[in-house]
Amino acid sequence: MAKHVALYTGAKMPILGLGTWKSPPGKVTEAVKAAIDVGYRHIDCAHVYQNENEVGLAIQDKIKAKVVKREDLFIVSKLWCTYHQKNLVKVACQQTLNDLKLDYLDLYLIHWPTGFKPGKEFFPFDGEGNVIPCENDFVDTWEAMEKLVDEGLVKAIGISNFNHLQMEKILNKPGLKYKPAVNQIECHPYLTQEKLIQYCQSKDIVVTAYSPLGSPDRPWAKPEDPSLLEDPRIKAIAAKHKKTTAQVLIRFPMQRNLVVIPKSVTPERIAENFQVFDFELSNEEMSTLLSFNRNWRVCALVSCKSHKNYPFTIEF
Ligand code: NAP
Repeated sequence: MAKHVALYTGAKMPILGLGTWKSPPGKVTEAVKAAIDVGYRHIDCAHVYQNENEVGLAIQDKIKAKVVKREDLFIVSKLWCTYHQKNLVKVACQQTLNDLKLDYLDLYLIHWPTGFKPGKEFFPFDGEGNVIPCENDFVDTWEAMEKLVDEGLVKAIGISNFNHLQMEKILNKPGLKYKPAVNQIECHPYLTQEKLIQYCQSKDIVVTAYSPLGSPDRPWAKPEDPSLLEDPRIKAIAAKHKKTTAQVLIRFPMQRNLVVIPKSVTPERIAENFQVFDFELSNEEMSTLLSFNRNWRVCALVSCKSHKNYPFTIEF
């Protein structure tokens, strides 16, 4: 199993990265340091996670200590919804670069296709509980993203949580300069995303699978929700390989040519989650895991269903 996938830009993206959503600022610096020490070279960040400063401290520390060179790291961040207005895209990117203490990002994603009213609140709601959209559409935001590439602030640009019609809208934009290199989407055995992945791969757009373990620390988890890590059928596959359930859930997307970004702030788990290059799931096991699909989403962004660009109203 290769450790990288190729982006259409020619860049090599590490197939396994560390997620940082919900990683507390007081823990994430040590987590990122531990990850780099055991071999992670790809860190998945976002302004809205409110910990990029602390992620940046770890990156800076490891570069200063000569454990890694900047060019050996692949750092991803995301443009939050309140910065979709064209004049705010560069401002947001520069804030992220300052926080991460970097002079460029390897990949910058539009976090969601839904733009919100600019301002301090990450989720601006009106009196009726509807999120307040911003004026311009994501196609305009995309033009501002393209400028970041030309200005050298980012090496590649992409999208996250876009459905295939929204992707098509960007791909068909008159005067498109750079197509998205990546679409980062939720993907695991309960949300296998076959059609959207097929669409992305047919356009040479790499897919990153987020919440690969089912995000057990998501703030809205309910006791009756399904649990991938507790699923006896997945546990059985893991036992057969003398691996943990988490390791099977991480290996599964890798064998679909997806990039995968499990999150942990626990050093032992960070190391465990990287021990996935020394076993292989059989074709039968891959089909079995795919058959567990139930279209169950961790991140359904339900509070934004009224937004005209809410992505999950069509099949894929
Ligand atoms: P996840 O990676 O599926 O699960 C993280 C949870 O699993 C944490 O509670 C972690 O606990 C636990 N865990 C990690 N390794 C484990 C192991 N070996 N055994 C048992 N438990 C383990 O969830 P996620 O954070 O939602 O998704 C991963 C990353 O994808 C995010 O952090 C973020 O970077 C990205 N993401 C992006 C979007 C988007 O809209 N683009 C949305 C969601 C996520 P501890 O940390 O306590 O160890």
